Amino acid sequence: MQSPLRSALLAAARSPRLEKAASGTRLTRGVVDRFVAGETEEQAVATARDILGSGRYVTIDHLGEDTTDAAQANATVSAYLSLLSALAPLAGESAAGGPRPVEVSLKLSALGQLLGPDGDRIALGNAHKICAAAEEAGVWVTVDAEDHTTTDSTLSIVRELRSDFPSLGTVLQAYLKRTEADCADLAGPSSRTRLCKGAYAEPATVAHQGKAVDDAYVRCLEVLMRGEGYPMVATHDPAMIEAALRLAGEAGRGQDEYELQMLYGVRDTEQLRLTGAGRHLRVYLPYGTQWYGYFMRRLAEKPANLALMLRALTSK
Ligand code: FAD
Repeated sequence: MQSPLRSALLAAARSPRLEKAASGTRLTRGVVDRFVAGETEEQAVATARDILGSGRYVTIDHLGEDTTDAAQANATVSAYLSLLSALAPLAGESAAGGPRPVEVSLKLSALGQLLGPDGDRIALGNAHKICAAAEEAGVWVTVDAEDHTTTDSTLSIVRELRSDFPSLGTVLQAYLKRTEADCADLAGPSSRTRLCKGAYAEPATVAHQGKAVDDAYVRCLEVLMRGEGYPMVATHDPAMIEAALRLAGEAGRGQDEYELQMLYGVRDTEQLRLTGAGRHLRVYLPYGTQWYGYFMRRLAEKPANLALMLRALTSK
């Protein structure tokens, strides 16, 4: 069962009216900045440089989702192409076949996936341009997972893109009942799969609820760690991280054969501790003006973040 507070926050995350209201508040500079690098590409690149300097890897997300017009999707492509030019000098040389320190994350709904019957074709074309530029820049790309109504479309677009860009990463959400089977499909050689618990409000018909999500997460990890791909373990949950390290050891994986991932602004001390212990840890770093949906999902994950927000709203 989802808590009523979590459900309410996730419903609010999709409300254009509340988004408009929130954008006009003082939230942006205060609490939002804990989770978002800033509104500009320059701020994102500067923060990425700091993260890389601390020994962590980075994946950068240009904020935006659920695009409803083609011009906006084109603007998102332009933003990524510009970002990739700026990131090329940071990407550096990575060992052949080894992890690339710099990655970008994409949401297909920001690239036109929801633009009617042609949506899939438009998103595929737009993502292809970004993947080609990323290849040139020495930067990895991973496609984020959105709500379950988009999963089939997203996985089929990723499958097509991977024929040209085999290193393209995919995100799977352990809360979806289909995901164990998707993990098995994506556990082959050269496949990169980010496993997260899942951040959207999903019905019990398609998604595990409560503690069952953690059990499913571990089962999915087992499939990915035993497979031949590159698992990307995206969680802040100490029990999931412990399971990942144990399963990687049992599968005989070296440090370069999987990575841990956390969100910017969450458990920073633990991120640095794991990096200091020799683990590869990648920070998911969002930037841009469309922070509302992303920020509301972070609030839904941890009620204490809501208290932080209320304090910021009521302080001078
Ligand atoms: P939880 O059980 O939610 O949290 C475990 C502990 O971590 C909490 O007790 C708390 O101490 C800490 N914590 C967790 N979240 C927060 C927070 N917001 N603020 C402060 N502390 C927190 N979801 C998708 O649906 N699609 C995606 O593409 C996607 N990409 C992701 C990429 C990365 C790198 C990460 C880390 C997460 C991603 N997520 C994505 C979000 C994910 O699905 C979860 O909603 C989120 O990570 C919280 O789950 P958890 O595994 O950390 O466990």
